Amino acid sequence: MADKLTSEQRHRCMAAIKGKNTRPEIIVRKFLFANGLRFRIHDRRLPGTPDIVLPKYHTAIFINGCFWHGHEGCQFSHLPSTNSTFWQRKIDLNKARDMRVAVELRLRGWRVIRLWECGLKNKETSEATLQTLLRTIHTPPSSAPAISTTPGYTTPLPH
Ligand SMILES: [Zn+2]
Repeated sequence: MADKLTSEQRHRCMAAIKGKNTRPEIIVRKFLFANGLRFRIHDRRLPGTPDIVLPKYHTAIFINGCFWHGHEGCQFSHLPSTNSTFWQRKIDLNKARDMRVAVELRLRGWRVIRLWECGLKNKETSEATLQTLLRTIHTPPSSAPAISTTPGYTTPLPH
């Protein structure tokens, strides 16, 4: 069957499926822009199509939904009580892919930052998450902390 979607329609369709251009993503983009940082979004040339890429800082940012990406110890990642094996399997696969993508990006010289939706839920936590993000971007990778103490903010692997 012929593909009758325009590229704009296709983009919107993919956005709906993959959860692109979500509210937390918009919050992060606005913040980065307001702080004078320039970035690309959804760069398909890189493994895992990072949500935000800062070429100047060789940094790729993923903004993850807590449920789908299995945010450990997070109140928003609880499995539904029915079909929990099914959901667990799905989420395990997502987590394995996230890890693989992070390793591939690191091998290519990119720093990977993962932000969680719960860290961008309200004004207070967002502010803390975004300030940590900004500090991390401006810190050379070798001296950046592997794991931040700010809730909702982690980097998946030590640098
Ligand atoms: Zn979370």
